[in-house]
Amino acid sequence: MTGTDGPTLERIDVQVLTVPTDEPEGDGTLAWDSTTMVLVSTRAAGTTGTGWTYGAPATAQAVEDQLAGVVIGRPVFDIPALNEAMTRTVRNAGRPGLVAGAVSAVDIALWDLKARLLGLPLVRLLGAARTEVPVYGSGGFTTYDRGQLHRQLRHWSQEQAIPRLKIKIGESWGTREQRDLRRAEQAREVIGDAAELYVDANGAYTRKQAVRVGRTLAGLGVSWFEEPVSSDDLPGLALVRDSVTADVAAGEYGYDLSYFARMIPAVDCLQADATRCGGLTVWLRTAALAEAHGLQLSGHCAPHVHAHAAAAISNLRHLEWFHDHVRIENLLFEGVLDPQGGVLRPGTDGAPGHGLTLRTDRAEQYRTG
Ligand SMILES: [Mg+2]
Repeated sequence: MTGTDGPTLERIDVQVLTVPTDEPEGDGTLAWDSTTMVLVSTRAAGTTGTGWTYGAPATAQAVEDQLAGVVIGRPVFDIPALNEAMTRTVRNAGRPGLVAGAVSAVDIALWDLKARLLGLPLVRLLGAARTEVPVYGSGGFTTYDRGQLHRQLRHWSQEQAIPRLKIKIGESWGTREQRDLRRAEQAREVIGDAAELYVDANGAYTRKQAVRVGRTLAGLGVSWFEEPVSSDDLPGLALVRDSVTADVAAGEYGYDLSYFARMIPAVDCLQADATRCGGLTVWLRTAALAEAHGLQLSGHCAPHVHAHAAAAISNLRHLEWFHDHVRIENLLFEGVLDPQGGVLRPGTDGAPGHGLTLRTDRAEQYRTG
């Protein structure tokens, strides 16, 4: 500790880890066979914090070239000041996209570092609003055949007793509508009537197509329709929201607070991704913004990034237990959370920070930068 300001940030290190998927994955508007994690380590007073984002390898360069210089040497406890300094310095680089991912990864690593320096689980540092964080199983990729879809949904709904499951629809930019509907039927058969069934079109449908699909899916009790149309089409999102019974949700491409302010009038539930929106600092502000408008917030992807902050907000809907990221976080970290029964209980083991420790031997195998 150095004076009343606490310790200063001594260094930032970045690694790029590329992990192949276990099966080819795809949604309505994108397909992929590997996922890249950009992992940031922050160091102060003999302690290391860890944060990450999923995105382009060049995110690492943004951390090194744009951000490290404006935060090293400053008090690590003053995270809002460091977040603001990073945001200001990237004005001309352009904040949306991978630059926001870089800011987010550093911010997340700073929160972990601060909690570890104070010897507290992150949820204790933030202050808990709840002990249980609901999750929903998320996968059901359009690339899966019937057997793969069944296996994954059975694993979540039966072995792990997660009562909320989401599949991807909108295959091939909305051109395989009949297959989308058939797969939703198959999903309902596997998970039974008691579980909640969610769908995510990743912006693949046109407005009227989304309304037609949403009304058909109401017959299967689908209660969450994510990105029925492009998230850039806010009037379209609002139109679908007012025309279907499922909750319309969006927000995964939000890179700053004002994005969410614009989106709030168009959705039933706001989503935000701390690995994109500016880190946990901005994610928590997004929760307050949603709360002020009577909306709940759902955390998008990267479940172990969100778990502690999710337990610190009163208007949480749930977190996305995303197959791809769960697999990677389980592979690379010790101390991962157990979703049994559909809830996480972050911080109950008393481990400081987000409670995860990088398995450096494994990380080395996937290192690409
Ligand atoms: Mg989505």
